[in-house]
Amino acid sequence: MGSIAKLGAAADQICILPRGTSGGDVQRLYRAARRLQKVPLTSLAASRLAEGVRSGDASLLLTGAGGPPELPFGETDGPLGVAVLARALHQGLGARPYLISEERNLGPLRAVLEAMGADYPLLAFPCGEEEAGYRFLEELQPRAIISVEKLGPNPKGVVHDMRGRDVSALHASVRGLFDGAKDRDILTVAVGDRGNEVGFGHLFGPHVRPPLRSGQCRCPCRGSIGCDIRADALVVSSISNWGAYGVVTCLQALTGHRLLHTPQEEAAMLKAILHAGARDGVTHTATLTVDGSDLSVQQAVVTLLGSVH
Ligand SMILES: [Zn+2]
Repeated sequence: MGSIAKLGAAADQICILPRGTSGGDVQRLYRAARRLQKVPLTSLAASRLAEGVRSGDASLLLTGAGGPPELPFGETDGPLGVAVLARALHQGLGARPYLISEERNLGPLRAVLEAMGADYPLLAFPCGEEEAGYRFLEELQPRAIISVEKLGPNPKGVVHDMRGRDVSALHASVRGLFDGAKDRDILTVAVGDRGNEVGFGHLFGPHVRPPLRSGQCRCPCRGSIGCDIRADALVVSSISNWGAYGVVTCLQALTGHRLLHTPQEEAAMLKAILHAGARDGVTHTATLTVDGSDLSVQQAVVTLLGSVH
């Protein structure tokens, strides 16, 4: 195993640390993703980005999970991950990042960027408008698309939240963006933690037994919550933010730049996003938590990733 793969293997292990006593699906999803992609996930994603993105290239970063009524300004998992990745792509590779999400999430995303001293364009992805994805490709001509905790449709075209409810009307229709990216040979990288996010198409298909046991929908579609959109590299982590941080950890080694944020910045970002209205995506509370796990745990993961060389 090469040195970047060794680093990726260590980062992967930190990213799939249990975030609580539940969440057994993550281990299963991780093993399936690792088997299919054959190499550690965080270093695979970082290597593809380092090879594919050149200085001055536009990169689109997507996030967006959770919506009204419980989460009128989105959740705390996702925005921190894309913000840290956006800064890493900018400072490490010279990319021009664009952050894209549903309108309601743009205020919280702006607050997170400000907390880390970054300023990148934010664009609204309208709900239920598949053509918007093609428009982003035409107008911005990106070299890479990275999604972190972005809900996407199952094979029947239905977007589900983690409780199995049909939330299609409240979320961007991202299939056009990823279909268009495939046609144009644009690199796609995805990070997720449940299986209902973009990227998990790797694990759903005639030759793969869906590894989601608890992922049944509770809507009339009678499908699985599993999103069937594929990405060129899929990262599975216990909390999606952690997977994004793991990719940044590997990008540091590939670029020689210090790119990972500090535990202090993690606290500042989490406070800022709460102040902007986002809530914990699992508990729906306005607490300093991500997916029900405390700020101190988020900071511990950042510290652990920072100690991997
Ligand atoms: Zn359904």
